[in-house]
Amino acid sequence: MGNLALCVFCSSSNLVPEHFRKDAIALADRMAEEKITLIYGGGSVGLMGILADRILGRGGEVIGVIPTFLRTEELAHEGLTEMIVTQSMHERKIEMSRRADAFAVLPGGFGTMDEFFEILTWKQLGLHAKPIVVANTGGWFDPILSYFLNAENQRMVSRQNLALVEIVGSGDQVVNALLRRRDPAGTPPRLSRL
Ligand code: AMP
Repeated sequence: MGNLALCVFCSSSNLVPEHFRKDAIALADRMAEEKITLIYGGGSVGLMGILADRILGRGGEVIGVIPTFLRTEELAHEGLTEMIVTQSMHERKIEMSRRADAFAVLPGGFGTMDEFFEILTWKQLGLHAKPIVVANTGGWFDPILSYFLNAENQRMVSRQNLALVEIVGSGDQVVNALLRRRDPAGTPPRLSRL
């Protein structure tokens, strides 16, 4: 069996506060330690670039998936283990999700949220059954977690579907959450922060 492949969705902004960068580095270090392959959007900008650079620097594998039109805007990373170029954003998402064994969501903007909700709704529809772990670094996702709770209270979302996502407190905890899931004797996954 090959390495575990983790698809990470996160910010493409170079302007985010330092603690978010440190958190991406902490996740990268844990992934490199556990020889987990990174699947991501293929850019060299923002938390995406930080994550890729750090894993490559530690001798890890990084696979980028980028649509042709974003190669300039997101400064396609030149030094990846493998770069897949797609025709469209939709093909990018499909390719990323097909190659991943699990998904992690780090703080990010609209693009990150779009990717998060799409992969979550695909799971809700039964299109995949892969783990989705959200790193609530610095409480970034608190407003979204409040929305989740309210949606469940108002019966817009079932309790069962709320449990499709696991929340951890920071990037470095993502890997432990995934490894625990692989261990049949480990703690069962649950929505720990809701
Ligand atoms: P952001 O969180 O906005 O910094 O974007 C993070 C990543 O999401 C970047 O690689 C964007 O190309 C990607 N992205 C932006 N919009 C979308 C979208 N509608 N669907 C999928 N990915 C997107």
